Amino acid sequence: MASKNEIKKTLENVIAGKILYDEPMSHHTSLAVGGKAGALVFIKSEDQLIAVVKRLKEKKINFLPVGNLTNIIVRDGGYRGAILLMTGMKKISYEYTPGRDYLISAQAGAALVKVVSLSVSDALTGLEFCAGIPGTVGGAVCMNAGAYGKEMKDVINAIFLLDAEGEIKTMNREAISFSYRKTLLPPDTIILGAQFKLKKGERTKIKKKINEILQWRQKKHPLEFPNAGSIFKNLPMQIAGKLIEDMGMKGMSVGGAQISPKHANFIVNRGSATASDVLELIALIQSKAEKEKGVKLETEVVIVGED
Ligand SMILES: Cc1cc2nc3c(=O)[nH]c(=O)nc-3n(C[C@H](O)[C@H](O)[C@H](O)COP(=O)(O)OP(=O)(O)OC[C@H]3O[C@@H](n4cnc5c(N)ncnc54)[C@H](O)[C@@H]3O)c2cc1C
Repeated sequence: MASKNEIKKTLENVIAGKILYDEPMSHHTSLAVGGKAGALVFIKSEDQLIAVVKRLKEKKINFLPVGNLTNIIVRDGGYRGAILLMTGMKKISYEYTPGRDYLISAQAGAALVKVVSLSVSDALTGLEFCAGIPGTVGGAVCMNAGAYGKEMKDVINAIFLLDAEGEIKTMNREAISFSYRKTLLPPDTIILGAQFKLKKGERTKIKKKINEILQWRQKKHPLEFPNAGSIFKNLPMQIAGKLIEDMGMKGMSVGGAQISPKHANFIVNRGSATASDVLELIALIQSKAEKEKGVKLETEVVIVGED
């Protein structure tokens, strides 16, 4: 495992943007918890990304591409390697060939909400379900993010990626397998961007749908506290939040982490939570669900780093 100095030496001569060493990830994750990353590298372009990844691989230093960190828990021991923050790669473009498809392409670091805004301004329908999901295109594609019965798989036309050999590839929709909250890409793939295929719609209807979704989220989700969205995946026949509520766990706390009294599948940071508090609460829920309901709750949030 690489020390801060090794990472610093490795990245010294690579033209990367800003790099923060020994950076507390609690300053960057939406749950506001997490230990230090050896390096947090602010990626600005594909060329930079390729150079940084090549150098890290040569030196066998671990790395992790991330978007807006709205679905990640970094353990308190931190991440011994480089976290590559993709939010600087954020170009979005719209393409329409008369009689053919309406396509929006976006780089991995583009905010999903920006893509939704562009689709609204061009009266394109299909991305309404993404309203209020606070991630990037890369994070949403990786997670096959979804809501209200739709998932990224319903709108993806192609994914642009950097493969394990450092080659840029395009994977068309037909070649990609998707599962619940996971897009099955080849190992060690970095998502560079995606293309979405949309349909022409009516702007007023699209806006109405989006407003309804945003109001629903405001009412149901504890957006007033740092959180990472749904902690657990739903079970095939059971909603995770309902199951946790039925076990009487709403409002339960460990340290500064609390099962939201508003929505039982959200854990919120009441101000002083650590990643260990959140993970302890997750373990308590999982153990109670197994003992009392005979089910295994799997996390939807991605957990990385050292204890
Ligand atoms: C208030 C709130 C509401 C939410 N609502 C929803 C919802 O309705 N539906 C839903 O599905 N999710 C929801 N989420 C969770 C989260 O926003 C989504 O999963 C989002 O798509 C994650 O995007 P991100 O950019 O933050 O990814 P991150 O959290 O940064 O990363 C998530 C995963 O993707 C990987 N990743 C990120 N970028 C890349 C890349 N370029 N290449 C390869 N891998 C990459 C990371 O390594 C990690 O494994 C919600 C979260 C919050 C806080």
